[in-house]
Formats: sequence, C-alpha cells, structure tokens
Amino acid sequence: MYEDQQKQVFDLWVSEEQMPTMRLSLQALDVLHTEKTEYQHLAIVDTMPFGRVLFLDGIIQTTVKDEFVYHEMITHPALNTHGSPKNVLVIGGGDGGAIREILKYPTVEKATLVEIDEKVVKYSKKYLPEISFALNDPKVEVRFEDGIKHVAGHKGVYDVITVDSPDPIGPAVGLFARDFYQNIFEALTDDGIFVAQTESPWFNRDLIARVYKDISSIFPITRLMLAYIPSYPGGMWSFTMGSKKYDPLDFDESKFPGYKTRYYTPKIHKAAFALPPFVEELLK
Ligand code: SAM
Repeated sequence: MYEDQQKQVFDLWVSEEQMPTMRLSLQALDVLHTEKTEYQHLAIVDTMPFGRVLFLDGIIQTTVKDEFVYHEMITHPALNTHGSPKNVLVIGGGDGGAIREILKYPTVEKATLVEIDEKVVKYSKKYLPEISFALNDPKVEVRFEDGIKHVAGHKGVYDVITVDSPDPIGPAVGLFARDFYQNIFEALTDDGIFVAQTESPWFNRDLIARVYKDISSIFPITRLMLAYIPSYPGGMWSFTMGSKKYDPLDFDESKFPGYKTRYYTPKIHKAAFALPPFVEELLK
C-alpha cells in the first residue's frame, strides 16, 4: 500500500454519484465547509487521495491533486493557438484555476471571470489558495453574473473565451446550448477562439456528439481534444474548441513560449487531438 493511500482510523467517506449506477468514494479527513448557496450546494472536503476537493451539488469540480491537468488543458491549447491573446474571458471557473494559467501569458492585458455564484469564489479563495490566488491579480476582473447573459451583451471583444462550466445541470444547462455558442462566436474578435469542457467520451456520448455538431455549424474550425483527469468519471475527459481563423492542429512547437506547466507541453498539444476511433465516431 502506498503511503498516501493508507486508511485512517477515522473512517469518514465522501461519495460522488457519477452516474445512477456508479460512485467514486474518497476517504475524507475533514469537511471544511458546506452551504446551500443561492444556486447550488457547495462543499469543500479534505480527502486522502486528492487533497482538498470542491463539490457542487455533490459533483467534484476540482481537486488540489489533479486540477492542473484540467486547468492547463482548458487554457493553453487555445491561448497558444491564438498566439497573442490580449482580452480573455472565463465563464464559470470560480475556483480561479483557469485564470491562474491565463495570466502566464504576458500578452494578456485583461482576464475577465464571469461566475454566477459569488460563494464559489469566496470559499475557493479561503480553502483552495493554490488554485485561486490569481483572482487577486490587478489584470483580473471578477463579475458575479450569468455567463449566458454576459456573452449575449458583448460583441467582438474577446480574443479567447474559456467555458469552464460544471456538468449541464441547474444554471449551467444553457452553457451547452447552440444559442450560447452562437453568442460566443459573436463575442469573439475576428481571429477569436473558444474552448469548453465537454464531459466524458465514455458516459456523455450524446452530449459530445450534439455539442460538436452545434459548434461545427457555427465555427469554421472545430476540434475535440482529450486529457486524463483521475477525479472525473472514467478519467478520460473531452474539450471542444471552436476557432474563427487559427487551427490548433497547425500549432508550431517552436513558438511555445515555455511557461511552467505540469501537464501541457507542445507535444501534449499535438497528441491531445489524436482521437481513438470510439471517440472519432462521435464527430461524424
Ligand atoms: N472544472 C469544473 C468541472 O468540469 O467540473 C468546473 C469548475 S467551475 C467551479 C464551474 C462554475 O461554473 C461553478 O462555480 C458554477 O457556479 C459556475 N456556473 C454555472 N452556471 C453558470 C452560468 N450560467 N454563468 C456563470 N457561471 C456559471
């Protein structure tokens, strides 16, 4: 047994119902905060296998142990494909991890976070400082409003938009809708790019197929990429990118600015777009 997997005498467990017939159970050390906010149930739990974990409505959003995979992949492939992003928007993402990665780009003049639930930012700042610290940077504007309304009210302003949403439930349902993608297209500059987390290729196949079809009907370039995040259902996770001008497959490795990352590299950038046939078939 590995040292960090040793069972504690205090036998407290927290389970995520990943599907009606499948659960992920983590041994817990402490429950740091729970609250029913205006929008959802929020819990931050210190766990043995993943360190501190943010749950919303009982679903794992981020963990201190594996968050870097998700946050690097929802930002760097799009930002590097663009090349010189100045004005970047994150929708959702109240834990601040995507913002932390975006600020690694010196070209970025402003990063706006539009998070519907103020409490997610408040408790991420308090209990997840290694993820959220960049939210205090002067280049960052945090707005507590609905991302759907925000994109509908902004035209031609953002170079990159990152949709760092939870699963499509509650206030996030509209973040997976065709109208929303159309408004994102219009909120982007002429060479803008957007990327969204698009769930599990094992367990959300209909959603991925529908989202890919919707995005391809709006953007001239649409690409799906994969990354491996152990705390998410099945581990394999998908992200879908819509681009007006630049193709992420044409990324020139020699132009990688070399920011410090733990998952993303130029080789991972290329490899992430290589899809196994059982995923490729979702895009037909
Ligand atoms: N990495 C995560 C995942 O894939 O599970 C997502 C994390 S992030 C905490 C998601 C955030 O999106 C939540 O804090 C939630 O409050 C926010 N959110 C949900 N619907 C939203 C909306 N319509 N506009 C803005 N933020 C929204």
